[in-house]
Amino acid sequence: MNKNKLIILAGPSGVGKGTVENILFADEKLKNILKLSCSATTRKARQNETDGIHYYFISEEDFLKKIENNEFIEWNKHFNNYYGTLYSEIKKINKEGYLPLLEIETVGALNIMKYYNDKNKKNAVISIFLAPPSLDELKTRIKNRGTENQDEIDIRIRKAEEEIAEMDKFIHKIVNDTPEKAAQKIKEIILKEIEEKDE
Ligand code: 5GP
Repeated sequence: MNKNKLIILAGPSGVGKGTVENILFADEKLKNILKLSCSATTRKARQNETDGIHYYFISEEDFLKKIENNEFIEWNKHFNNYYGTLYSEIKKINKEGYLPLLEIETVGALNIMKYYNDKNKKNAVISIFLAPPSLDELKTRIKNRGTENQDEIDIRIRKAEEEIAEMDKFIHKIVNDTPEKAAQKIKEIILKEIEEKDE
């Protein structure tokens, strides 16, 4: 099995990436293969979010220092906060023998694809875009989540439109009709990719 790869699970905020991931990580087979990459962010922790599990919650000053020290494989500023994937996180997961799963938005995802492409390691990236059944459905999901105010909701919806416009740049596109079905399709993709392309 080839675990020298990484998986990007991208898709707009509110599409249900978290729910799909919970199903993936509860799967008996996948939980021995995958590990969720913990990103760094300057966003404040929501209720039920734990530092070092959901994110490394750091100050803007610390984040900017890490950018300067080239500690991020990718980073982006969206929704007024910085988000980024640390090289150290990917290395740690690889060292533990797992396949990192990065749950990030599209700009960061495209930057990682470019990074590996430039290193002639395009095949190391399994890129998956999780799309909503429709934009209206996404708007309802973000509103019902109740974690953002109206201005924040509007910003997330505008960004969602930009992200959906880029979905063809991803190898795999999955519509999240139901999280169970989407997770099943993602499971099949992951198992096929790591088994078939073993080098
Ligand atoms: P949230 O604030 O809802 O946790 O995340 C907002 C968006 O940031 C989501 O689309 C999420 O996928 C994305 N995100 C989370 N971590 C990272 C990261 O490390 N890099 C980038 N580029 N986006 C991230």
